[in-house]
Amino acid sequence: MIIVMKQVARDEEVLKVEERLTEMGFAPHRIQGTERVVIGAVGAQKIILPTGLEVLPGVEKVVPITAPYKLVSRQAKDTDSIVRVGDVEIGGNEIVFMAGPCAVESEEQLLTIAGMVKASGAQILRGGAFKPRSSPYSFQGLELEGLKMLDLARQETGLKIVTEVLNPQEVELVASYADILQIGARNMQNFALLREAGRSGKPILLKRGLAATFEEWLMAAEYILNENNFQVMLCERGIRTFETSTRNTLDISAIPQAKELSHLPVIVDPCHASGNWRLAAPLSKAAIAAGADGLMIEVHNKPSEALSDGPQSLTPENFDRLIEMVAPIADAVNRTIPQAEIKNSK
Ligand code: PEP
Ligand code: MN
Repeated sequence: MIIVMKQVARDEEVLKVEERLTEMGFAPHRIQGTERVVIGAVGAQKIILPTGLEVLPGVEKVVPITAPYKLVSRQAKDTDSIVRVGDVEIGGNEIVFMAGPCAVESEEQLLTIAGMVKASGAQILRGGAFKPRSSPYSFQGLELEGLKMLDLARQETGLKIVTEVLNPQEVELVASYADILQIGARNMQNFALLREAGRSGKPILLKRGLAATFEEWLMAAEYILNENNFQVMLCERGIRTFETSTRNTLDISAIPQAKELSHLPVIVDPCHASGNWRLAAPLSKAAIAAGADGLMIEVHNKPSEALSDGPQSLTPENFDRLIEMVAPIADAVNRTIPQAEIKNSK
């Protein structure tokens, strides 16, 4: 349930309600809205109305949340959440670009790509140091060496870093290098990982599982928010369908639907969705038109030599073009693009 406090409610009154909720066996989560405080009360207890909370000073109303996910739901928070990573805001008016190689392969590769995607307007550098591969014989990532290279690229370019963490034991290590922890599609329901990543306090990019329903996806996000970490972004990266001509099928409806059900920002990854770099720009246009807050794009300086996901990786030049191609769409839906601003101001 959520306890909606009056606009004029005082801090002591909010604290009293939180205390009472704890006594009743709920975990209270305070959500600061623009005008008032809302307290999300979650727990295994069955809610029997009236709860008695209605009469406490400062309480406006008590509303049961009907969705199985509570803290991620629009019912708990009706304004869009903004995830802040340093000076980068995700979920605001500006479309955010996360770009970089599928995997960190070498210092030279990473620094070359980082410099180029930064020049094109990307705010966040992606690159896996720990790679979830379908085959145990495929390149598994440079691990700690890869994290150090990401750190170097951040120092050289000022880009923020998003990188994947594969298991709970490595959360602390990866979190000490990353600005955003990525939880991959294959791990979307690794509940121990979700909890540990949530506890790290780092912003989390939660990819949708290969065959996950909205409810499963949002319940996975709920695990993170339940650790008091509200810095979560949902990432649609294509789902499994009967179609085999593309690697996956980009679910465009996921964007408005996730936004209707939840207040969290939505990022779209057209590269893993399609498996084909040529489809990345048209799918990016569709994603922005449908309301995406950002794009995650795989970029490689030599896609034909990439150790993973070469066919879906754009060259830096093609990435630059992609940003130019999506700019009019962003404009049409009243969103801004950093690159477009730089070019227009020239
Ligand atoms: C990735 O972003 O490199 C990745 C492995 O993505 P996904 O989890 O969506 O397959
Ligand atoms: Mn990849």
